[in-house]
Amino acid sequence: MDKLLIPKPKSAGIILSYKCTSSCRHCMYASSPHWQGDWMSSNQLEQIISKLSETIIPSIFGSRNVGVNVGLHFTGGEPFLNYNLLSNAVKIARKYGVPSVFVETNCFWCTDENVVRERFTELKNFGLDCMLVSVNPFLLEYVPFERTERAIDIGYRTFIQNLIVYQEYYRILFKKMNIKSTLPFEEFLKKAEPTWTHYIELLPMGRTVYKLNMLFKKYPTKYFFNQSCYHELTRDWHIHIDNYGNYVPGYCGGISLGSIKDFEKLFNGIILDEHPIINALITDIKTLYNIGVKDFDYKEDAEGYISKCHLCIDIRKHIIEKGGKFPELKPIEFYENLT
Ligand code: SF4
Repeated sequence: MDKLLIPKPKSAGIILSYKCTSSCRHCMYASSPHWQGDWMSSNQLEQIISKLSETIIPSIFGSRNVGVNVGLHFTGGEPFLNYNLLSNAVKIARKYGVPSVFVETNCFWCTDENVVRERFTELKNFGLDCMLVSVNPFLLEYVPFERTERAIDIGYRTFIQNLIVYQEYYRILFKKMNIKSTLPFEEFLKKAEPTWTHYIELLPMGRTVYKLNMLFKKYPTKYFFNQSCYHELTRDWHIHIDNYGNYVPGYCGGISLGSIKDFEKLFNGIILDEHPIINALITDIKTLYNIGVKDFDYKEDAEGYISKCHLCIDIRKHIIEKGGKFPELKPIEFYENLT
């Protein structure tokens, strides 16, 4: 295969900036307060949204309904850190008739009932279809739960059935635990029912592989050999475009399939000779491992790996730290903010 052909996206997220108020242990995109703001400009947003408006499809329940993996969402980092830009983004999406538009927030800003009501109402009037409120024990280390509850309460009154609480299991659990403030994860582990891990969605990728690997069983490298990431890299749903214009496949933070500025070129095929890491990943993760070992002196971690994504990200991080330069390993700050 000379070129990797990727389909145009049916659903997508736009990362307005990787900057966040939190450094959550499970963040797939390694967001944190340490990133430069580098917010996407409104012009850049309009160019991207105009292109995506031709490919994004609505929820099966209609263009004003939503789901986590359908439509277009604005995210980060934390998009409410730049409310003006977020407002513009929603207006532009409505101008281009993009279906099933939602925003996700960590609720750090929800300290005042009136402010939450004003902003939710304003965004809805600008054309926002849905709000997604994040609830999990990793965010709970940074954001007092009473702010999250405030957002959920006002969110239901504003967006009615179009409020997504992700994940509802945690909302119920935190209420049962009578939590109001923040809680360190170690305290959560002591207090929560030991079965909590049975009910959650926690993908073993991104920062999780370093900060939460104690929750998973580990395996040696060869356990993951003979696995290809062709499907993950070519899927047409829930891809992301970041504020640098990188087309980020699936949940694979730190990998860029190209620049959204070259929209048509991107979908004419990625030349694999010019992207050896992508070539390795669609062939066999062992090929990436061999590049790491032979060209960058990568050493297998004796403790093992929780997933193929753990092995992948650890090799990519090592390559960057050794000064390796590959057009598909972007943005560099992703690797600097992982641990
Ligand atoms: S192994 Fe790497 S490329 Fe494959 S799905 Fe995981 S992060 Fe993405």
